[in-house]
Amino acid sequence: MFDVGRLSFNPSLYPLPYLRPSVAEHLPHPLLSPPQTMPLFPEAVQHSGINFFIDSPFRSINCNLLIALDGTQYFSSQNICCENCSRKEHRNGTVTYSHTVITPVIVAPGNDKVIALQPEFITPQDGHTKQDCENAAAKRWFIEYGLQYKDLGVTILGDDLYCHQPICENILTEGLNFILVCRPYSHKTLYEWTAEFENMGEI
Ligand SMILES: [Zn+2]
Repeated sequence: MFDVGRLSFNPSLYPLPYLRPSVAEHLPHPLLSPPQTMPLFPEAVQHSGINFFIDSPFRSINCNLLIALDGTQYFSSQNICCENCSRKEHRNGTVTYSHTVITPVIVAPGNDKVIALQPEFITPQDGHTKQDCENAAAKRWFIEYGLQYKDLGVTILGDDLYCHQPICENILTEGLNFILVCRPYSHKTLYEWTAEFENMGEI
């Protein structure tokens, strides 16, 4: 999509993709910064035809688009860091610096293509645990982009990490639907309730 060439091997925090000169000349700097790339994502959705074709191969359950959210680490080092690094101190006294991002993609069963949407970068202020960090970044994504996609009919897919009431309410507030993994060991009370309802014949 960005016509990515080779990556820089300079051992710095600058491994950004170089652009084809014809593209780069339209940008203020030959390297892309994240805010510059954001407008390209809805354009990709626009060009996919999802907006116009209800029978798009990306349409799935209830004719919705499935947007899968997940976090991924794209930088980790014990030597190089910047002011935006998340920092993890180990018992042996060493520190690992890292950058993580949530990467939402439109997926569909039986379709081997995906459409990447705007990522949301996890910041050091997002929390101390992996769950705090991902949930805070996910909330920002729903608030920032929910309105942009909700009219397409969207169901958010996420793992057990996101399966908590505040996130569920956040998704619904933005006019989106959700299917989240809900594991018994991390949702004991909920499973106790459903077991009771089953015993009472109400499920
Ligand atoms: Zn950093």
